[in-house]
Amino acid sequence: MTLVLDYKSDEFGSGGINLTHKPNKNMINRAFLVLLIVIVCISVISTASLAKIMIIEGEKYQTLASEQQLYDTFLSAPRGDIYDRNMKLLATSSPAWTVYITPNNFKNLKDGEKKKIKNKIAGGLSEILDMSKDDILELTDKKTYYVIVKKSVDKSAADKIRKFMTENSDLKISNYIGLDTTTKRYYPNDTLASTVLGFVGDDNQGLAGLESYYNNELTGISGRVVAAKNAKGNDMPFTYQTMKEAKKGNSIVTSIDSYVQYTCEKYLDDAVAEEQVAERGTAIVMNVKNGEILGMAVSGDFNPNEPFKLSELDQGKVDAVSDEEEKAKVKSELLNRQWRNKAVSDTYEPGSVFKIFTAAAALEENLVNKNSTFSCNYTYSVAGNLYHCHLKRGHGIQNLAQAMSNSCNPAFIQIGQLLNATRFQKYFKAFGLDQKVGIDLPGAATPTFHSGDKMGPTELASSSFGQTFNITPLHMLTITAAAVNGGYLVEPHIAKEIIDADGNTVKTVSTAYKRQVISGKTSETLKELLEYVVQNGAKNGIVNGYRVGGKTGTSQKISKIISTGEHSLYIGSYVGVAPINNPDIAVFVMLDEPMSGRYYGGAISAPVGAKIMKDILPYLGHSPQYSAEEIEKLSIKVPDVKGFEVAKARDTMSQLKLSYKIVGNGAKITKQLPEADTNINSGGTVILYTDGSDDDAVNVPILTGLTAGEVNTAAARAGINVVFAGDAARSDIKSSSQSIVAGTSVPRGTVVTVSFFDSGNADIATE
Ligand SMILES: [Zn+2]
Repeated sequence: MTLVLDYKSDEFGSGGINLTHKPNKNMINRAFLVLLIVIVCISVISTASLAKIMIIEGEKYQTLASEQQLYDTFLSAPRGDIYDRNMKLLATSSPAWTVYITPNNFKNLKDGEKKKIKNKIAGGLSEILDMSKDDILELTDKKTYYVIVKKSVDKSAADKIRKFMTENSDLKISNYIGLDTTTKRYYPNDTLASTVLGFVGDDNQGLAGLESYYNNELTGISGRVVAAKNAKGNDMPFTYQTMKEAKKGNSIVTSIDSYVQYTCEKYLDDAVAEEQVAERGTAIVMNVKNGEILGMAVSGDFNPNEPFKLSELDQGKVDAVSDEEEKAKVKSELLNRQWRNKAVSDTYEPGSVFKIFTAAAALEENLVNKNSTFSCNYTYSVAGNLYHCHLKRGHGIQNLAQAMSNSCNPAFIQIGQLLNATRFQKYFKAFGLDQKVGIDLPGAATPTFHSGDKMGPTELASSSFGQTFNITPLHMLTITAAAVNGGYLVEPHIAKEIIDADGNTVKTVSTAYKRQVISGKTSETLKELLEYVVQNGAKNGIVNGYRVGGKTGTSQKISKIISTGEHSLYIGSYVGVAPINNPDIAVFVMLDEPMSGRYYGGAISAPVGAKIMKDILPYLGHSPQYSAEEIEKLSIKVPDVKGFEVAKARDTMSQLKLSYKIVGNGAKITKQLPEADTNINSGGTVILYTDGSDDDAVNVPILTGLTAGEVNTAAARAGINVVFAGDAARSDIKSSSQSIVAGTSVPRGTVVTVSFFDSGNADIATE
């Protein structure tokens, strides 16, 4: 076709170009000049880029290209990592490879040669990738350029494939097989924090938890390799490849502390097993000042490295179903259950723990004070409905702290009435209970509540003690945080910081308060009330050496018919705060449908909260301060469990609230340390050796010049036991001597006596 460059508008037809007009010679020359300039410019630019790739970075790309045998393909970007608050890795990506073949490259081969090579490839790959040879042969027959054989292949298999290609270079195997570098998500701590982290799908896309919520941040930008092909459709030498490198996604630094998380999971799982909890449980630790979540455990979780694998128990339920369709349905339900974050996505009736809210609102409105009294005669009637106290003889006259500690429903109905529905609803909104909690996790549930005129006298009465409406565990934690932190509503969150691949901060998560909901004065009063509750009512929340505040709750669920008949089902919960004089953390524990026969929050959930606190408070930098009474109670006599079956020994230790460690896999206890009848501090651990197990040696730490609390912490860390002599309760006296010299190697569990004597009559250890 002739190039027409005549721009005279009058010679164009309407909408068409007149090709009949013949251009003059000058015009053609001018046109060629312009075209020439354009071509030269393009060539200069591409030569420059090609030169950069060939000369400057050529070596790198040659290496990459020859290793990977890449053609025209995407390079997947590594996903960003997830860290705990101390930069311990929680989720990362390890290199993986996609194995593919290029069936179109077989087309120019002669039939005999084609068959031989296809057979060789199918045989080799089936062995390395543990796949059926016939399946691979089928793939080689496809009429396409690129077909995936297997995804997420690890390094050892990828190396074997490379070796296979080299060994068969005479057959030019590498013309038909290739490896694309990708990444595979890896969770180094297996089940730890699985419901928080979530997991990813086949293409590394976040499907649950933080992986889903922060998917855009974590996903990087794919790179691409384009290879030139010669006239026969074969690849040109790799120096003609152009390549854009993949960019790694941003990483998330979370507020999760792996030790706190582990501690929550350990004690929650123990309680769920012991109390035969049917509907799972949750334990959460939150910083009350800024809403940072340090630990969030959900029982019955999963391993995010294998998210589609059910627990043995659940798999048994699936296997028991014979109908295939029904089987798939059951499996899907159970998988969704194990992935579901109960702390965020499930609502519950908070029960008596919610009395913190009712007291806060009434105190803030000056409708009650510490000296207000309330009477309880077992029953209390509201609008024709009779409400009962849990104490049949009634609590009589109580002040506010006593009513709270007694968890007396009639008293709190009266407080609700003083508040009235309008004010109750005003505070409900102020505390953010009419909305989803602002957590950075997917699937946050919306509370349900009696709004507007739907809150009549009976709804107000039941709401006052935490029944007939639903909130999430995180809502209950934010109420508690505001109650003790000076009155500020915090937003719970898990991400602290988003960083790029070089570790530079991209975004810091703000910890601003949402608003102040009660005054500092009201908050002070609430702290006193909550400490009174733990000291007098919820005594299972007591942690020796610490001032703890808390509240228990037992909410009744709608009765359920189960195999043994109709049962009332309960949720036992507890929220604790420590140190209550200067609150740092709140611990929430909830056990949903305990079937052990015990269901009171004070009996089953408060001990879990106390155990978590006992382990994490020293770790978080709060040293215990023991009272004289506590020092007295601290010492405990070790029972004799030698010869016991392991299970019986465990029971004995649990009953005495002694920690223990079983060494070896034998059936019976052959030796114990400390020996029976030895006195040790109750925070210690008894080491129980089973058949054929060996002593485990540890070094005695320096235990002088410390407070009693510090001695206990140091001993627990070192794996030894201590018992105090002298005046350990006096905060002005530090430990002066230890019965075994620091640095001595002793069997784990050995008891060291640590003495506390006034400096007037004892040697003070010097360093
Ligand atoms: Zn009562």
